[in-house]
Amino acid sequence: MSPSSHSTILVTGGAGYIGSHAVLALQAKGYNVVILDNLVYGHQDIVEKNLKAELIVGDTSDRALLNEIFKTREIAAVMHFAAYAYVGESVTNPAKYYHNNVVGTLTLLEAMQEAGINKFVFSSTCATYGIPETVPIPETHPQNPINPYGASKLMVERILQDFDIAYNLKSVIFRYFNAAGADPQGRTGEDHNPETHLIPLILLTALGKRDAIKIFGTDYPTRDGTCIRDYIHVADLAQAHVLGLEYLLAGGGSDVFNLGNGNGFTVREMIATAKAITEKDFTVQETDRRLGDPAMLVGSSEKARQILNWQPQYADLNDIISHAWQWHQQRHDKLGEQANRPNSLAS
Ligand code: UDP
Repeated sequence: MSPSSHSTILVTGGAGYIGSHAVLALQAKGYNVVILDNLVYGHQDIVEKNLKAELIVGDTSDRALLNEIFKTREIAAVMHFAAYAYVGESVTNPAKYYHNNVVGTLTLLEAMQEAGINKFVFSSTCATYGIPETVPIPETHPQNPINPYGASKLMVERILQDFDIAYNLKSVIFRYFNAAGADPQGRTGEDHNPETHLIPLILLTALGKRDAIKIFGTDYPTRDGTCIRDYIHVADLAQAHVLGLEYLLAGGGSDVFNLGNGNGFTVREMIATAKAITEKDFTVQETDRRLGDPAMLVGSSEKARQILNWQPQYADLNDIISHAWQWHQQRHDKLGEQANRPNSLAS
């Protein structure tokens, strides 16, 4: 089959936060999408109402299911988002992370190899770098992850290098910084349960679903004492995945790219911006540092801009928080109290 924009792409984790945005970006370019998601954290309602892609419910570690999918559909490439992504949980339950993130991915890659599919877009993370030695972090920065989540992603990166050499599997690896925001048209957004990320926690506080937002540490060596992170709009991440896919479909070789905004914002700056956008005042508590948080994580994404011609559309923090606010308001209006929700997501 000659690859074209009418090709069918398998998106694992397509019912999750970043995966669902990638599905929308693929569909906007005419790709046919098949989603494989175990719905442990993904949202069936979003797929059914707003993505309208075929949803296969299952695990990436289910080899028989994968064989069946690849036998009955002409899949041109795989985008792999399905993974567990709670850093703290990965420390207390590493078996869960290595099993799902590494064994599940290896099973998927083996099934692809047997089916003759050799194009793979992989969702990795800046957590593979560990504590930064230089900022902004380039792709060539040493990779010394400080938790099992980051280690599990790095192991897959290594597997992909070896599979290219041995089996000619071509991959694009994206190392994300802080994915944030929501679909500008409100069709999908961030909805983790439990929620641990800064922006949704701030917005849930603005909505009155939480009593206060805690700042984890005010004594970091940064401009206002709070941690600096690189927040990148999830729709821009999704766009990069389509470009990475098209680079592979056009015959590009394996490569790795950071995806970030290149600008860092402090926790206090995030809260102030959210207060201005939501026009709500809410309680802010200053608390101790959270374990394992580097003071500053900011990436250089020059390589993605140059090689993939990636041009982020929503670099302005106001866009990121406004889109997230629009999403959270409508999601919580529809679903009522968070505690009553059925299930939710990771990325
Ligand atoms: N953070 C915070 N309060 C919270 C959640 C997060 O101060 O309730 C801080 C956290 O310490 C980090 C930043 O916000 O510096 C972003 O955290 P998040 O968990 O969203 O992403 P991470 O950078 O850990 O991937």
